[in-house]
Amino acid sequence: MRKESKSFQAETKELLNLMIHSIYTHKEIFLRELISNSSDAIDKIKFKSLTNIDILGEEKDFKINIFGDKEKKIITVQDNGIGMTYEEVLENIGTIAKSGSKAFSEEMKGNGKVAEVDIIGQFGVGFYSAFMIAERIILETRSAYSESGVRWTSTGDGSYEIEEIEKIERGTKIILEIRDVEEDLEFTEENKLKSLVKKYSDYVRYPIFIGEDVINSTKPIWKEKKSELTEEKYNEFYKTNFHDWENPSHHMHINVQGNLEYTALLYIPGKTPYDFYTKDFKRGLQLYTKNVFIMDKCEELIPEYFSFIKGLVDCDTLSLNISREILQKNTELSSISKHLEKKIISELEKIQKDERDKYIQIWDSFGRNIKFGIQDMFGMNKEKLQNLLIFKSSKEDKYVSLKEYVERMAPEQKEIYYVAGEDIEVLKYHPKMQALKNKNIEVLFLTDKIDEFSLKTLEKFEEKTFKSINDSDFENHDSEEDKEKQKEIEVENKELLEKIQNILVEKVKEIKINPNLGESAVAISSKGQVSLEMEKTLSEMPGNEGVKAEKVLELNPNHPIFKKLQNSNNEDELKNLVDILFNQGMLIEGFQIKNPVDFINKINSFIK
Ligand code: ADP
Repeated sequence: MRKESKSFQAETKELLNLMIHSIYTHKEIFLRELISNSSDAIDKIKFKSLTNIDILGEEKDFKINIFGDKEKKIITVQDNGIGMTYEEVLENIGTIAKSGSKAFSEEMKGNGKVAEVDIIGQFGVGFYSAFMIAERIILETRSAYSESGVRWTSTGDGSYEIEEIEKIERGTKIILEIRDVEEDLEFTEENKLKSLVKKYSDYVRYPIFIGEDVINSTKPIWKEKKSELTEEKYNEFYKTNFHDWENPSHHMHINVQGNLEYTALLYIPGKTPYDFYTKDFKRGLQLYTKNVFIMDKCEELIPEYFSFIKGLVDCDTLSLNISREILQKNTELSSISKHLEKKIISELEKIQKDERDKYIQIWDSFGRNIKFGIQDMFGMNKEKLQNLLIFKSSKEDKYVSLKEYVERMAPEQKEIYYVAGEDIEVLKYHPKMQALKNKNIEVLFLTDKIDEFSLKTLEKFEEKTFKSINDSDFENHDSEEDKEKQKEIEVENKELLEKIQNILVEKVKEIKINPNLGESAVAISSKGQVSLEMEKTLSEMPGNEGVKAEKVLELNPNHPIFKKLQNSNNEDELKNLVDILFNQGMLIEGFQIKNPVDFINKINSFIK
């Protein structure tokens, strides 16, 4: 018989340590976590048994048993699910297999005192949460595919024992040896356990026994009438079933009758899962037919831009033996998926309209994913998704949808204006903002690197094209005379502009006069397809280092420095001045300047 003593990985140790010494106020959720693992394990064997009934042997009635003993100071949670082999225990229970948890725990070490709640919320450390009340955990399990069982024991202090044992019954039994403090011992009381099951695990699909009694309601929550269900019930079901520690920000309970019949229960998580924007994240909804769990993460049910949505679909008319290959071609599933997609979009639009704060929270967590959806597949889905976009704007420092923007545009304004950059506070003081603000013209602030790409893909909204105020051909004249005047100044200063162009020949494409630069002496704008912000974003991507925007230097003829340029008759002085102005423009646009020391020296020589 194998027997080993092993150490936890360093990062597991770290997380365990935080867990054990946690001041987490909801210790009681340990039970929910264990029950939820049991329920998953039963789902797995139930699914296998659909194609191989023999796998069940004598144990055909699925159940979870909970037992508490205050004298002996123990709680046990036992299921007849799929169980684990020796290797599976090593793999699943010896490590907290969450990519990102290492980086996270290092970060925690770095700043010393992040609340424990954060790791719990972040990684949902499942099984390990039992260490909040147990000084020792013994797990005994036998896999449906193995003759012998396994015992795993640990006090959570860095190492664990694992050995082969004899075990007759299939499945997993977890024995918690409770800490000898009244607060924790309370959990061993039968009434306490009953109330916790009722509170957190009422809608677990398999009967949960405490003594002779089944405690939970076992009827699937999605088959209940909406009027029978409370927000709390929906939330608890979400946390148990989708391994989240935080309440969702929204749920949708959808019941469809007619040609296509299905029930769906969808949730929008309360915050971005830690691995959401990584390759590890798997999207998909749970699929049931006639209340029987068929599979987790069925991708066919949800488009990629809504991958943040969790939930399930139950469709009674699907075959029980449905396999992955069949799923992909199943027309019923693709009809459900299309139908759900419409529902989700209209629900999100409704939240945007009626519950703006909630929408902003959802948008801040997942909006980026929707923006990717707009750009993806050459904008194939852009029309469907465009109403979901919101941006901060110069009007009230609040989020605004494109629809709202267009509705309050002045009749003579022909395009939707935006400015792109990382920081709203900087954008507010952009040289071109002042004049627009004076005229009460609204400008969208595009602060996410991918925003401008989304608008380029959209091309237009309600027949209005988008215009960056930072395009060199963006015009903002008060009148035709103004425009003429600008031309005149350009003609009058033709020679000077040419000289400047020669000095900046490598750096800018064009020199231009612009009287609408507020208090700035200069601005840099761009012409052509690649904007200044796009240059920054693209040049960070491998293979794109050479991508450059075609820059235009705009000079403010009303600024005293312009006089200085006109009056300069020393070649070197003009060169230095032009160099300073160019670099000022680059700084305003958030670029790093090539040689800051040289820049500062040149400025200082003028100050002197
Ligand atoms: P999570 O449930 O979030 O994956 P846990 O730490 O709770 O994280 O569990 C880790 C893994 O251990 C599970 O994914 C599952 O494979 C296995 N496991 C836990 N409890 C059981 C159980 N009762 N029966 C079978 N496998 C289990």
